[in-house]
Order: sequence, then C-alpha cells, then structure tokens
Amino acid sequence: MAGFLFTGGRVLDAAQGVLLDGLEVLVEGGLIREVSDRPIASQAATRIELAGRTLMPGLVDAHVHVVASMVDTAANAMQPNTLATLRAAKLMGQMLRRGFTTVRDVGGAEAGLAMAQEEGLVEGPRLVVCGKALSQSGGHSDIRPRFDDRPGIFAERVGALGQLCDGVDAVRRAARQELRSGARFIKVMANGGVASPTDPIHALGFSREELRAVVEEAENFGTYVSAHLYTDAAIRRAVECGIHSLEHCNLIQAETAALAVARGAVAVPTLIAYDALALEGEALGLKPDSVAKIETVRRGGLESLDIMRSAGLPMAFGSDLLGGLHKYQLQEFALRARVLSPREILASATLVAARLCQLEGLVGVVAPGAYADFLVVDGDPFADLGLLYREDGGVRAVMQSGRFVLRLD
Ligand SMILES: [Zn+2]
Repeated sequence: MAGFLFTGGRVLDAAQGVLLDGLEVLVEGGLIREVSDRPIASQAATRIELAGRTLMPGLVDAHVHVVASMVDTAANAMQPNTLATLRAAKLMGQMLRRGFTTVRDVGGAEAGLAMAQEEGLVEGPRLVVCGKALSQSGGHSDIRPRFDDRPGIFAERVGALGQLCDGVDAVRRAARQELRSGARFIKVMANGGVASPTDPIHALGFSREELRAVVEEAENFGTYVSAHLYTDAAIRRAVECGIHSLEHCNLIQAETAALAVARGAVAVPTLIAYDALALEGEALGLKPDSVAKIETVRRGGLESLDIMRSAGLPMAFGSDLLGGLHKYQLQEFALRARVLSPREILASATLVAARLCQLEGLVGVVAPGAYADFLVVDGDPFADLGLLYREDGGVRAVMQSGRFVLRLD
C-alpha cells in the first residue's frame, strides 16, 4: 500500500512540550513506519511538503457518548435501533472531522459499533467502548420519571446509555456480561447526575460492596473501572474502592485529589458539558428537573482544574456532550485554557487520554508503530491553543490510519 512522506514541517511532541524541527515522517499501511532526522528514502510514498506547518497527533476525547444523538436521554433510549445507530454514525463522522481520531465512549456504544468503524463501514474516531454503564435503580442511568414504575429502561436498545443492576451479584453479572461482549473497561454511575430525573447531585450511587465487586471483576479481566462522579464525598469513596478513572470531578477538594494521586487514578473533567447544557439544554429538550441541577456542578468546574493540577492529578480531555450540543466539543479546549497551560491541555488530549484508552504508544504520539493519526496545523499550538478551536483556526488537515479525512489545501 502506497503511503505518505511528510517533510519540511515541525512535529509536536506532547511529552516534551516542544515542536521538533527537521523530522521526516513516513506513513505506510495506516501506521507510522519511520520518524527520522535524516531524509527517508521511499519510492512509493506520496511526498507532502508541510512548509513549516505543524504535524501533531490526532486528538483523543476520553469522555463521549456517541449514541447520544438527543439531549433527552430517555427519548434517546426509545429510538428505534436502526435510527439510533445511523445517528451515532453521523455524530462520529462529525467528531472525526473536528480532529478527534480516537474517542473513549463511557456509556452506550457497544463493540459492534467499534468493529464497524474498524471495518470502514462507519467513518468516525476509533472507538474504545464499555457497553452500557452500570447504574443502581434511581441512579444516573435511571431515566424513568418519578412515578413511572415500569421495570425496564430500554437498556437493550442502541440508544440507551446505561442499564440498571442492584446488589453485588447483579453488578458482577452485568460487568461480566459487558466484558464478554467486548467492553474494554467498565463504567459505573456512582453519584447523582444532571440528565437523570430522580437522583440529586449529592446522592451516592451503589454501595461500597457493589463498587468493590465491580472493581474486582474489571481487575480480574485486566482492566479498570470508570465512575461518574461530582461531589468530593463520592470521589473519595470511589477512590477508596479502587476506581481508576474519575469522570467529571467538578466538586473535588484538595485532600481527595491527593488521595487520588496516591492511588494512581486519572481524572476526566468535562466542563463544556455544563456550559453547553446551560446555553441550549432546555431548548433541546432537557427536562426542568435536570435544568435545575446544572449550576450545582457548573460553578465548581474551573476551580476543580486548579485543585487537580496543584495536586498533580493527571487529567484527560473529555467533553460529555449530548445531541445537538456536540458542536461544542472543541470548546472544552477554550474552557481549560482559562486555568491550564497549552502544554498541559495538549498532553491531556493525547498522552493522558491514550493511557485511559489503553492505547499507549498507538495513539496520541507521532512515533514509529503508532497509528498514522494526525492533524496538520498552521502555527504552533503551544503558543496559540486557539488554533485548535477557533472558528478561523489553524487545522488544515486530518488524517486517520493513513487516510486523509479532511484536507483544506
Ligand atoms: Zn458522560
């Protein structure tokens, strides 16, 4: 298979936080074959002269829901499977063209969708999935209005983000079932949420015994548990129970952040989700019970970044958008830039997110053996991160697995 040879540009190294001059990058068979400071000889490869532009790794979003094509998660779950699948495919295509070449889906997408992307049936980011998130009755995946006592939550549908399970045996069975079905990690709803109708933000989801049981099942399988979390008490309890990937963390305090560091956990803030919901959520079908909860978590967001950075807690890039709000995905960069440096943010959307995807060395780096996933950027993102998210930004091309999915010139 003929490839590409990139020359004359600068290569972004997220680990060192620098642009490296004078490197040539050879792409063959969808992978990076060679990175060299000497001229690379290749007969077959098409030469691409970068003329001083930056070649950087494709972006990785560690918190998305690709099947969430509607803001109203209950209506989303009730969509016919074919419609929900095709709408997910459309959202995935849009994510890819924004520059996200890999995403971690933290509730909803099953392995079949990841396989469809790998086979080229669906154009979108490489998908790392967990299947349906685990939730207790009345937890964050319980989409039933308060007096709707029907037993199910349409968990078997493509558009459902989660499933209900109560008790240690039931959560073990659910985790095992997801793992045998191709889940690469397990997601649990361990705290109240915004988009669900009957769980206040402070509510703790699952007992400690249930959380420990899920962690044991994941570890038995060689993977980890991710948990939906806002309050300091919920985060502390989750860390104590062995949960590794701490989603949101809006209300975390310094002591808990230090404990998370000591246990080797990783946080995934998703600030844009709340700004976007506050802006347009109600108009797009978010229910009044949910609208009332947005501010509780939104106001902690920027402060939480400062607390986690000071503690030394690694943070991965995440967006967590629903339905028509997906268009704001890149604006997570703008929010984080109010507190964090471009270097920290670029590492979060490459190296740190790659670790959570368990794709270290394969995504988030420009190095031999990695997937040929790149952005070509006109300018230096370390000096001006806005190149990635401004309307008139600097992204000139997106390549995934050695194939251009966007090329402006
Ligand atoms: Zn989420």
